[in-house]
Amino acid sequence: MKRIQMVDLEGQTARIRPQIDEAIARVLDSSKYIGGEEVSSFAKELSEELDGAFVIPCANGTDALQIALMSLGIGPGDEVIVPTFTFISPVEVIALLGAKPVLVDVYPDSFNINCEGVKEAITDLTKAIVAVHLFGQCADMGKLMSIAEKHNLPIIEDTAQSLTSIYCDEHSLSGKAGTIGKIGTTSFFPSKNLGCFGDGGAIITRSEELAAECRTITNHGSKIRYNHSSVGVNSRLNALQAAILRVKLRELEDYNKRRREAALRYDNLLEGFDGVAIPQRNKRSSHVYHQYTVKLKGANNAQIQNELATEDIPVAIYYPTPIHLQPAYTSLGYSEGNFPVSEKLSKTVLSLPMHTELSATQQEHIVDRLKAAITKWT
Ligand SMILES: *Cc1c(COP(=O)(O)O)cnc(C)c1O
Repeated sequence: MKRIQMVDLEGQTARIRPQIDEAIARVLDSSKYIGGEEVSSFAKELSEELDGAFVIPCANGTDALQIALMSLGIGPGDEVIVPTFTFISPVEVIALLGAKPVLVDVYPDSFNINCEGVKEAITDLTKAIVAVHLFGQCADMGKLMSIAEKHNLPIIEDTAQSLTSIYCDEHSLSGKAGTIGKIGTTSFFPSKNLGCFGDGGAIITRSEELAAECRTITNHGSKIRYNHSSVGVNSRLNALQAAILRVKLRELEDYNKRRREAALRYDNLLEGFDGVAIPQRNKRSSHVYHQYTVKLKGANNAQIQNELATEDIPVAIYYPTPIHLQPAYTSLGYSEGNFPVSEKLSKTVLSLPMHTELSATQQEHIVDRLKAAITKWT
């Protein structure tokens, strides 16, 4: 059996190596390393995948969030609502722009932002809501959109973990992650569902005006060379990464399928074992399984992680500390007990190895050892 990894990038790359080599050679032959045809073609191809929404490539998923916030004019004195159970990026960029992150708890089953919490967090200073589509499924965009419309607030969708997940509500709202709210963002970090061989990211929007604004911001606030209409940043996807992403974008549907098959195998292997709750499937969103995250019912996640590490089985805790308990954000004034769901999740969630190359034998071994560890420590 091949060594088990959280993400198997060697295996994934090996299957498309000739196309990757060809793409890299194309860039070297052109010696066009920044901008150019590869980047614009990738943006166009991803836009087609996202039902025609504008795609503005940039340097990484964190920049994408910052640029999205900048394009909405968010700055000092503004409040932005964001979940406390998330990767740090969305909170970090709100703080960097001098705005105030207003944290909200998540739902215990979907891990996504709690809409009642959002309603309660809205004040006269609120300027936007960030929905992080965690682990591969969309947040409850139907409810969020109706709250946002009522208060005339833009929603920023962070789809770094959920690119091409489809949301569909009971009425007429439907669409791919990142194309439903005012603006979306994503990351092409190597381990994401669509990953490049370095850093990369993009902003997604159906608004032509915001798309133009984001393009300007990524390019030093400049529409015309050496003429700066606003304070911008330097955030570019380079041509090598774009060429690689063009190859991998063609595989994305197959990658999603492989992840779904692996998730189903985990479900079956865990059936009847009452030490864990398998991931809940949101009936309004398709799942692209960036993570397969179980909740431990009795055992402590860090203890199980350590136990499995002794057997060379990597598992991960996303996220071990909610944002409101992070030292960098104590000035926001939150304390233990403020967001009980996120606090409990941080001690009970466990993400199992999930990638496009998992074999049934590996998964059987993982689940066998997981069950043994949980039985031992409960
Ligand atoms: C990975 C990730 C990001 C940041 O992406 P980078 O490309 O690493 O900057 C932002 N948000 C979420 C939810 C992520 O998982």
